Amino acid sequence: PYTGPSAAEILRKRKEYLSPAMPTFYKQPLNLVDGRMQYLFDENGRRYLDAFGGIATVCCGHCHPDVVEAIVNQTQRLQHSTILYLNAAIADFAEALASKFPGDLNVVFFTNSGTEANELALMMARLYTGCHDIISLRNSYHGNATATMGATAQCNYKFNVIQSGVHHAMNPDPYRGLFGADGEKYAKDVHDLIEFGTSGHGVGGIIELAPGYLHAVYDIIKKAGGLCIADEVQAGFARTGSHFWGFEAHGVLPDIVTMAKGIGNGIPLGAVVTTPQIASVLTRRNYFNTFGGNPVCTSAGHAVLRVIEKEKLQENALRVGTYLKEQLTALKDKYELIGDVRGRGLMLGVELVTDREKKTPAKAETEHVMDQMKDMGVLIGKGGFYGNVFRITPPLCFTKEDADFLVDSMDHVMAKM
Ligand code: PMP
Repeated sequence: PYTGPSAAEILRKRKEYLSPAMPTFYKQPLNLVDGRMQYLFDENGRRYLDAFGGIATVCCGHCHPDVVEAIVNQTQRLQHSTILYLNAAIADFAEALASKFPGDLNVVFFTNSGTEANELALMMARLYTGCHDIISLRNSYHGNATATMGATAQCNYKFNVIQSGVHHAMNPDPYRGLFGADGEKYAKDVHDLIEFGTSGHGVGGIIELAPGYLHAVYDIIKKAGGLCIADEVQAGFARTGSHFWGFEAHGVLPDIVTMAKGIGNGIPLGAVVTTPQIASVLTRRNYFNTFGGNPVCTSAGHAVLRVIEKEKLQENALRVGTYLKEQLTALKDKYELIGDVRGRGLMLGVELVTDREKKTPAKAETEHVMDQMKDMGVLIGKGGFYGNVFRITPPLCFTKEDADFLVDSMDHVMAKM
């Protein structure tokens, strides 16, 4: 049993000693002390079904024994820097990761986070093209350092950093977007940014790109001599079910792919994968990262790939995710409050509105449902520009029974409202 400090005591210390900007979920924040696959346990041993572990990087399940074993074995053997010396763990994982990519995307740079991966990708694109301009989506989140904060459009994640050269393109949002589900029209916005002025899904509210968008945009960018960067920090590692990477469902081939979160099942790790030609821009000077892709983290990453394969987690994400989406869509037919249900595999969004016609964001209701579901033992996330979208991104070992429990508890809370 847990013998550590209570939630109240931790909250007090947090307020006194930790960043005042650090957010917590729920009116009474949870003190989580144990994790097992899709379950989390609080200080009283109460069990919660985790339908938001994806955000916290867990793809195989909390404390998956294979991943834990890989981490422990490597930690007992050696933990060191990624650079200067040879180590099999790092090279083996790079080889295994590269094998998951199409085309000649086979050079891997390891980082400690998604932010670092995107910073590196942006720098490589700028060095390779000789062009400073970056186009990203208006509802995107790409990280918290200078270039990535510039590329992130939402003002609540931004400080007054210098962000010259960043242009934000219209969100190809089929539910709220200006052009509805017409992908070509949104792509024209990117064309206009290039002509007259000179790619993210999760935090923005699990928005599926309007059909035809990505294909059209990649064409426009490539014709203009630009590079296409796919940020797979949330969508990658089998989460969307039909494919291992989000971009694959759109039939496009990026020049650079960035990833983090799911890659290490909770261990700090990120990566940039690109072509040998683009990778060569970093040979002109020294570029290194002391801990990015160190032996312990890459051992974890390699174990994650093995678990995804062994436990057929991509197939599970597709099967359970499709079922869960059907059940949530049935709830939409029952409650006016649900304006939209969207997403792929185990990356689903449920948008709440008080008026379906006007699409008025139901922010307070979103918080209420989330809090009540927590009391029933189900953890989900929220996001979106208006804070009115449930983000459902469970560990990929989520079962049909878990999906039923989640939907039943949401149904129960909504019925009482
Ligand atoms: N890109 C996307 C799509 C993300 O969701 C995030 C994190 N929410 C990041 C980049 C940044 O990753 P990190 O927090 O590991 O720096």
